[in-house]
Amino acid sequence: MKHSDVNIPEKVIAFGEHALDVSNQELDCAPYSNEYYELCFEYTRTLPEVCSFYRQRFEQAGIDPSTITNRDAFEAIPPMSSGEVSALTDSTLLPDATRECLKTGFFNMPVQKKLWRKFTTSGSSGLRPKVSYYTRDDWEVLVTTGARMLASHIPFYKISRALNCFNGGHVGAKFQEDIFSTLGVSVEGVHISRTTPEAVLEQLAISGAKELGGFNTLIIPPGLPKGMQGASKGTNLDSLLEIDVDNIIGKNIRVILTSGTPREAPGLNLRQRVWEANELAGQERTQFFEMYGFSESLPNAMDCEMNDGLHLAPGPTFTEVLDENTGKHVKSGEKGFVAITGLRNGSRFLRYLVGDEAVYVDEPCKCGKTSPRLKNIERVKEIERLQQGCGGGL
Ligand SMILES: [Zn+2]
Repeated sequence: MKHSDVNIPEKVIAFGEHALDVSNQELDCAPYSNEYYELCFEYTRTLPEVCSFYRQRFEQAGIDPSTITNRDAFEAIPPMSSGEVSALTDSTLLPDATRECLKTGFFNMPVQKKLWRKFTTSGSSGLRPKVSYYTRDDWEVLVTTGARMLASHIPFYKISRALNCFNGGHVGAKFQEDIFSTLGVSVEGVHISRTTPEAVLEQLAISGAKELGGFNTLIIPPGLPKGMQGASKGTNLDSLLEIDVDNIIGKNIRVILTSGTPREAPGLNLRQRVWEANELAGQERTQFFEMYGFSESLPNAMDCEMNDGLHLAPGPTFTEVLDENTGKHVKSGEKGFVAITGLRNGSRFLRYLVGDEAVYVDEPCKCGKTSPRLKNIERVKEIERLQQGCGGGL
């Protein structure tokens, strides 16, 4: 099913006999399907064949990959901790053949197999930066998935021109630009010279095809809660609201998409502050959306207009929420560690504990969709919990 007013190009993730068309908007409306689980199991079974890291890892754990045909077998694979991934070299998680090409270049490879994007984390958690490569095919899959999620959740007919405030080197800059452009929104990045909130606010006021109404959409990090340290992902919404004395945001911005850190962090009150600005300007309330993902694998989930938890999105990132002590998937309403499996051809992440915990909810949302949601997503501050987490990694 597709919304008749938006054209998202078809794109398929395929491993072995199994495939998933990630442009299908029905994926955003329902829990993970059996077909999606089958694709994930097939991907996992092939890992030891293509990547010597997983060959050793499965041998060490005494796992025969051919037995991974159901959830119990999949859930018996020890998760990878954040510290474990941090200790790897840049290329360890790549398939062996891809690592060979990395030595000399990908000149003879079909363009879909060439490495297209490489991202690293900031290392602000105190661990060595984690590295993630995407092939061009992987990138097209995740862009199509992201555009589909926007089409499923955002009233896109309200928006047409977006200012993207993510720093150019951050995964959010390239990813958000590509997914909004694929949806059909014109995206402008913050100019390289505009490094202060004042300068970004000026760009918001004067650019974005002003003769046609200017920007009506912001793509922006929300801001860090007071007292929390972290690398700047770009000028954030909190700092723009502090200085917006002309109420440019309240007057003009109809949709705000945040990503990078939780929008509802204590003390930020972003929605309330913007809605007060809307009221002052005599405008309807700006709608908020949040996308959840990491440079290691994205996109995972996004909230709908109800702002009541982020809907899990089937696609290149298979997401689980695992009980800290048993390693089993938590039940609805319970909190656990977020683990992701990235279904792709570049860096291979399998049941990787990203360093967040969240409450998993599988009751239907007020929006009518029955895809499970993540609520109260938080960084796990005590790294040793993750190292020992989920019934003991390798
Ligand atoms: Zn919803």
